[in-house]
Amino acid sequence: MSKARKRILITGAAGFLGSHLCDRFIKEDYHVVAMDNLITGDLRNIQHLFKLENFEFYHHDVSKFVFVPGEVDYILHFASPASPIDYLKIPIQTLKVGAMGTHNLLGLARVKKARILVASTSEVYGDPTVHPQTEEYWGNVNPVGPRGVYDEAKRYMEAITMAYHTYHGLETRIIRIFNTYGPRMRLNDGRVLPAFIGQALRGEDLTMFGDGSQTRSFCYVADLVEGIYRLLLSDYTQPMNIGNPEEITIKEFGEEIIKLTNSSQKLISLELPKDDPKQRKPDITKAREILGWEPKVKRAEGLKITYDYFKTLSKEELFSGHRDFINGNK
Ligand code: UDP
Repeated sequence: MSKARKRILITGAAGFLGSHLCDRFIKEDYHVVAMDNLITGDLRNIQHLFKLENFEFYHHDVSKFVFVPGEVDYILHFASPASPIDYLKIPIQTLKVGAMGTHNLLGLARVKKARILVASTSEVYGDPTVHPQTEEYWGNVNPVGPRGVYDEAKRYMEAITMAYHTYHGLETRIIRIFNTYGPRMRLNDGRVLPAFIGQALRGEDLTMFGDGSQTRSFCYVADLVEGIYRLLLSDYTQPMNIGNPEEITIKEFGEEIIKLTNSSQKLISLELPKDDPKQRKPDITKAREILGWEPKVKRAEGLKITYDYFKTLSKEELFSGHRDFINGNK
C-alpha cells in the first residue's frame, strides 16, 4: 500500500451521491473508508469497490459515536435521507443524522485533524422569495411543516459546522446541493425524475403534482461530484451553491420525459404536497469565480444516460419497488 495515499471517510457511501463520490475518490487514488447504516443506501451501489485494497466499508449509523482506526485526512458527510418521501417516513432519523451525526463527525475531524465537507442543501432556502438563490439569502423555511425535519437539520448542520470552524479552527467546507440526478437514484424514493421514468417504463401516467408550474434546476451527478471535489480542495469556508442553473417547470420536465421514453402516457395532475417550493434555481457565481466550476452536462444528455440506467432494471425491480427500503429490501 502506498504511504502517500490520502485517506477519506465518506458517510452515506452506499447512497446515490455517496457511491459516486466513492468512485471519484478511488479514481483519484485515495484510500476510501465508506460508512453507511443502509437505511436508504444500498450496497449494490458500491459492491464493485469491495475487491479493491484501497476501499473498506463500515456498516454504522453516524448518529452514534463514530470510530475510525488510523489516520483520516478528509471527511465527506453525505449520510442523510434526502427525498421528501424518505424524510416523511423517517423524520427522527433525518433530524438525528443532520444534528447528532454531524456533531460526531466534527468531533472525529478534530481528533484526526481532518478537513470536513458537509452536504447541505438548497432546502435551507425553503420556499424561496429570492430568485435565483444566492448564498447570502437566509431562506423561508417552515420549521414544523413536513420538510422541516430535513431543512432544519441541515440548517443546524451548517450552524454547528461553522461554529467548529470559528471556535476550534477546524477546516470545514459547506456545500448547498440543488436537485441532482443520475444513475443509482432509487426508483421509488419519491423524487420526480425516478417517479416519472418509472411510470413511463411501467406504462403508467406521469403524476405531476399541482399544475406543474413549480420550477426546479437539475444537475447531472458527474457535474456535482466535480464541484464537490473542487470545493473540498479549495480554501473556501462559507457555504457554496453547487447546481445547474438551467431552470424548468415540472410540467415541461414531464413532457421531456414522455418524449425521451417515447411513451404514449400523459401527465396527470395530483395534489401539490404542503410547502412544496414554487421555484428553485442556484446562483452559481461563487462556484464559477472561486472554483472555476460550472455544469457541463446538458439535460438531454444526462437524462438519456439516466434513462438507460433505469432500463437495465428487471421487470420485477421495476414493478416491486427497486431498492425501496419501505416495501422491499430493508
Ligand atoms: N413532483 C411531481 N411528481 C412526482 C414527484 C415530484 O410533480 O411524482 C414534483 C414535486 O412536487 C416538486 C418537484 O417535482 O415540485 C421536485 O420534487 P422532488 O421530490 O424530486 O424534489 P424537491 O425539489 O421537491 O425536494
